[in-house]
Amino acid sequence: MTLPLFDDPRATRESLYINGKWGPAPAGETFDVANPATGGIISEVAAGQAVDVATAIGAAESAFDDWSGQTAYERSKVLVNAHRIMLERAEELAVLMTMEQGKPLRAARTEVAYGADFLIWFAEEAKRVYGSTIPSARPDQRFVVLRQPVGVVAAITPWNYPVSMITRKVAPALAAGASVVLKPASQTPLTAIVMFQIFEDAGVPAGVVNLITTRNPRMFSEAVLASKAVRKITFTGSTEVGKLLAREAASTIKRVSLELGGHAPFIVFPDADPVHAAKGATLVKFLNTGQACISPNRIYVHRSIADRFLETLVARTDKLRPGNGLDAASGVGPLIDESSVERMQRQVDNAREHGAQVLTGGGRLTGAGFDGGYFFAPTVLSGITPEMDIYREETFGPIAGVTVFDDENEVIRMANDTDYGLASYVYTRDLSRAMRVSEKLRFGMVGINDINPTSAAAPFGGVKESGLGREGAAAGIDEYLDTKLIGISIDTTGPDEKAVPGPTNS
Ligand code: NAD
Repeated sequence: MTLPLFDDPRATRESLYINGKWGPAPAGETFDVANPATGGIISEVAAGQAVDVATAIGAAESAFDDWSGQTAYERSKVLVNAHRIMLERAEELAVLMTMEQGKPLRAARTEVAYGADFLIWFAEEAKRVYGSTIPSARPDQRFVVLRQPVGVVAAITPWNYPVSMITRKVAPALAAGASVVLKPASQTPLTAIVMFQIFEDAGVPAGVVNLITTRNPRMFSEAVLASKAVRKITFTGSTEVGKLLAREAASTIKRVSLELGGHAPFIVFPDADPVHAAKGATLVKFLNTGQACISPNRIYVHRSIADRFLETLVARTDKLRPGNGLDAASGVGPLIDESSVERMQRQVDNAREHGAQVLTGGGRLTGAGFDGGYFFAPTVLSGITPEMDIYREETFGPIAGVTVFDDENEVIRMANDTDYGLASYVYTRDLSRAMRVSEKLRFGMVGINDINPTSAAAPFGGVKESGLGREGAAAGIDEYLDTKLIGISIDTTGPDEKAVPGPTNS
């Protein structure tokens, strides 16, 4: 298809969207955007500088009063417009996403639809920002609680879900009445540019949303963290960077929402259907080439069904067709970069040295269709033990590591033995076991015989070092609202009732 974004060459080189205007970096600096399937350069975009971030924060601050002063119904209308325009441009967004991020076009289309859901969900939630009244112990006092937008929000998004991570933050911020300065990952700025064109066309007023493309994330975070005007940081990315942002946000006591790394356990109990569970494991493990925060990273299978499970897992994995996501036959795309391929090889080699068996895959894919790109064979390892790196580290790639277990308490202990706490999965047909285990797993999300416990309507987020706060659901808008208490002393005696003319019906 033709991509409207490339119709005007300035559209990408002038990719800073500040105070309602598109523009270049100060001295015209740009950086390249590459296709991870081929290594080829797709485009160049503006390399924003600290001065641009400062201007964007100023614009967001100036726009805040008017935007937060609009009614929820007015803000909701803008989000409904954005939803409609996003669906109109869905195919273009999907193709661009496949080009700059690598996922198969089918998966990119699914992500665009998921991303659009947040716009319509929060268009509706905007009208449900309820306050409350609270009884006071004093007869002459009333308490009224208001919920008001937090102010200027700085948002940092990752490359693995480049569209939905933008809408999951910007939609609730706009619904609440906050204004935003956003930095997308340097690998995936093109879909971000289209999303901001959509916000502009939907009628988001100048200054309310601002986009800074840059290849220097540290410059961006230093500028937003130092600013007193920025009242909130919302970040999706690695735990390492999340910790750094949380530490530095403390210096001006900014609110923080963090959606960080995961290390999901996938537990298959002896009463589960091993074939069904293995099909589920294959689907969710190789989703986005394993580059998903909810990707299973430790697969625990009961000894009594391990052979059947592994047989199906390997057979299903062998059916996956790695390749360029633009090719309709491809089921798994490339990794994002060379260092990801190296990390995969290190984890496989380390597991092998400690006694794991490579049942399929295990190395880089080379040859026609793969050279130049970052392809790693979908891999299944068995015999994974706690000594191996893959047992402790987030893999973020297409390696399924399997460990056998014997006992329910033992597997719960192993599953919880991590600093992460995002997603977890349990396969069982025993309802009591499903509830018992779900309650004991220290994770923000549990899928029971279900590999996709996510939706705009459901609260997404982690515990422990997987993050703070929730995205989506009614909880998603709370992240952008402050609570204000109004305490009122009143005169309880009132005027003489006889002196007040009552309503008349005559
Ligand atoms: P990353 O932390 O390297 O990058 C994420 C974003 O942070 C990018 O925009 C990047 O440019 C920026 N960044 C990097 N260093 C920074 C710094 N010093 N200051 C400010 N910004 C900085 O992570 P990644 O490799 O892009 O993404 C993968 C990670 O994201 C994985 O750990 C994954 O689990 C996590 N993730 C979590 C969720 C979730 O919802 N919990 C969703 C998607 C991805």
